[in-house]
Amino acid sequence: MAQLDTREKLGILADAAKYDASCASSGTSKRNSVGGKGIGSTEGMGICHAYAPDGRCISLLKILLTNSCIFDCHYCINRKSSNVRRARFTAQEVVNLTLAFYKRNYIEGLFLSSGIIASSNYTMEQLVEVARSLREDHDFRGYIHLKTIPDADPELVQKAGLYADRVSINVELPTAPGLKRLAPEKSVGQIEGAMAGMKGAIEDGRDAKKKYKSAPSFAPAGQSTQMIVGADAATDSDIVAKASTLYDRFSLRRVYYSAFSPIPDASAVLPLQRPPLMREHRLYQSDWLMRFYGFKPDEVVSAAGDDGMLPLDIDPKLAWALKFREYFPVDVNKATKEQLLRVPGLGTKAVSRILSSRRFRTFTLDDVARLTVSVAKIRPFIVTSDWRPTLLTDKADLKRWIKPEKSQMELFAA
Ligand code: SF4
Repeated sequence: MAQLDTREKLGILADAAKYDASCASSGTSKRNSVGGKGIGSTEGMGICHAYAPDGRCISLLKILLTNSCIFDCHYCINRKSSNVRRARFTAQEVVNLTLAFYKRNYIEGLFLSSGIIASSNYTMEQLVEVARSLREDHDFRGYIHLKTIPDADPELVQKAGLYADRVSINVELPTAPGLKRLAPEKSVGQIEGAMAGMKGAIEDGRDAKKKYKSAPSFAPAGQSTQMIVGADAATDSDIVAKASTLYDRFSLRRVYYSAFSPIPDASAVLPLQRPPLMREHRLYQSDWLMRFYGFKPDEVVSAAGDDGMLPLDIDPKLAWALKFREYFPVDVNKATKEQLLRVPGLGTKAVSRILSSRRFRTFTLDDVARLTVSVAKIRPFIVTSDWRPTLLTDKADLKRWIKPEKSQMELFAA
């Protein structure tokens, strides 16, 4: 590898990390350096949250230790057979960079991943060493997210949780045949075994903390994973079902979706085009339906078409409501929380406002309109003191009525 300076390495290794979507920093414990002890903080003041135009969080220093890899996953730009410029940081260089960026208030923490250098164990040791040095040598109290290597020694993988706020183990693809085809050196058994081990370690850590206040925190922001969308033939229904299984079995905090990006010199087994970014967005919306709106996975799946794909032109909650019109209209002044959460266009905050306010007043359509972005979307599905939709939910073309199709304006009309 040619000798590169730190700036050049940073250019290569920050760019190589952009394909990883799972870098959000929510849900960890609060730490700060009030009283002049330590350095950094996971709290709001002085932390800049920035988002790339495609919605990804960029407020962490998000880099790879190296983009060299001995594996050859077809979808990955850093795979062994890829013709990209390689670079590698030492653990000490990553520590220095993190501290330098943090002191300038550019970042709120570190998201560190890596290609597999010599072996999975060696790579994992290096990743853990960065986090160890930040925490123990520099008393760093900012956020650390480590991407772990599933086939490394389980003890090493779990050591990551001693220093990191969040750990993630990428499941990569939604189906076992997809993983076998596109990442032949990885296996579902290894990945899920590592997730199960981490789940156990997180639970043990929580139990210890309950018993002894002085017990060290273990991955307080839990574990997450990432699935690549659109690199194989898995449908949205497959993806939703897989995500739900992962949440249940491994108590994951988040499942992130990353729309497959075509890469230079791509393998012939990959599609030539990236899936629409809207597909990734619809999957995130379906994830919210399960986590915050009380939808069961099979209900989300039932919003998909016969091809197993969620519609791209409308959100999954509206798609579900249009298919299951017998549940509507819902009386805003009487309905249960569960019923209100099913109304397209009513978010969790709006539902809370309705529930807390309706003890003192009766909601009109205008009152509901003030709680939502589009009253046109809601009207067919609700009853208020001054509004009752007349057979609107029976309209065959209800979807077009709610969301008129866009047409190109006539440019040269008389
Ligand atoms: S192991 Fe990770 S870095 Fe290496 S080729 Fe596979 S996805 Fe890319």
